[in-house]
Amino acid sequence: MTQSAVYEQVPNNLEAFWMPFTANRQFKSKPRLFTGAKDMHYSTVDGRKVLDGTAGLWCVNAGHGRTQIIEAVRDQVGRLDYAPAFQMGHPAVFEFAARLTNLLGADFDHVFFTNSGSESVDTALKIAIAYHRARGEGTRTRLIGRERGYHGVGFGGISVGGIVANRKTFGSLLTGVDHLPHTHNPAKNAFSRGQPEHGVELADELERLVTLHDASNIAAVIVEPVACSTGVLVPPKGYLQRLREICTKHGVLLIFDEVITGFGRLGASFAAEYFGIVPDLITTAKGITNGTIPMGAVFARKGIYDAFMNAPDNTIELFHGYTYSGHPVACAAGLATLDIYKEESLFERAADLAPYWEDGVHSLKGARNVVDLRNLGLIAGIELAPRAAKPGARGFEAFIKAYEANLLVRVTGDIIALSPPLICEKKHVDEIFGVLGDVLKTVD
Ligand code: PLP
Repeated sequence: MTQSAVYEQVPNNLEAFWMPFTANRQFKSKPRLFTGAKDMHYSTVDGRKVLDGTAGLWCVNAGHGRTQIIEAVRDQVGRLDYAPAFQMGHPAVFEFAARLTNLLGADFDHVFFTNSGSESVDTALKIAIAYHRARGEGTRTRLIGRERGYHGVGFGGISVGGIVANRKTFGSLLTGVDHLPHTHNPAKNAFSRGQPEHGVELADELERLVTLHDASNIAAVIVEPVACSTGVLVPPKGYLQRLREICTKHGVLLIFDEVITGFGRLGASFAAEYFGIVPDLITTAKGITNGTIPMGAVFARKGIYDAFMNAPDNTIELFHGYTYSGHPVACAAGLATLDIYKEESLFERAADLAPYWEDGVHSLKGARNVVDLRNLGLIAGIELAPRAAKPGARGFEAFIKAYEANLLVRVTGDIIALSPPLICEKKHVDEIFGVLGDVLKTVD
């Protein structure tokens, strides 16, 4: 049997692989295996085509199996498979960094490469603390995250993150971390279309934390502009702007974690552009290479890099980096991805489709057990009432039934999250909400 035929079958041994963020025993008793993907669809080991309602894991923004990316990767790996990331370089990484800063606009001038969203977050937190120190404000070490925030799984990320299951079994985490309250207020905001009306004042909690600790001790605030992994919490109108104002007033860096919202998800290059806010650092990953090759990046606002450039010029300015920072093959994938985003105007396309998407989302109003519907750009959250004493059971059943009905969705507890590739067409939107509507009728 050829190697490729082997990868078309259910493996003999499902046990050895300890699966991440997965109910391992449930999965292995009834595995869900993808063997191929093209454009908007996955193909499964049992020969079905499954509509991708989640862009993989919020990352395949340009759709699957893009020839341009495949060829760029093939070409690069054949020419230069790896170059040391420390004290050495290769042309593609400089080209990619320059292209990314062009995409971000005039406020950002440097890029630090990582291999994932989690690494981007830990990198940004470290840059923030080191930046203040480099400027002679070394007491600014405290970090502020937000309840229900998801910032990956590194110790920095889970410390500023606010999802209890991701924190509670991992010890004491980083010290010197506080959390803003989350912005979810279904009593006032349920079934909002786009940004909810109520909750701007929740940003003022940052003033309270500044009063408690003094600004001279606070390095940075990190938030997802739209909190996605917790179940799609769209920021209330004016909330992010207010956070920006308070950070500026107190010299605290504002970090936007755009691992999901970056690269077109909201119908703009980044959420920073969408909301018209300039944060100090932006963390990204996922859509940076269309999910093809692992990569992440941190973008630094003008002045941040410069603050580090004050030691003698043969000294390392930032003692941080990864063996695979700016990996040549990832850069090739990223450059080809940026070409596709531009050539196909995918961010504008997402913006054009967003109103139709919003109507699709809200067509589920009144569906069985649906207690809230939320949307922004090409993101949706469908919140189901939990079953008594069985949180997450109803959501998981909906996920399995959708998969059996050839639709891939994601669930966080009892919230279904959707984020299709940006190449999504109206017929796919109709299919997603048609299938989900039928599935929800069968979930008691
Ligand atoms: N930050 C945010 C906002 C995310 O949504 C994610 C992943 O979903 C991460 C960080 C972590 O990214 P990764 O899984 O690539 O480490």
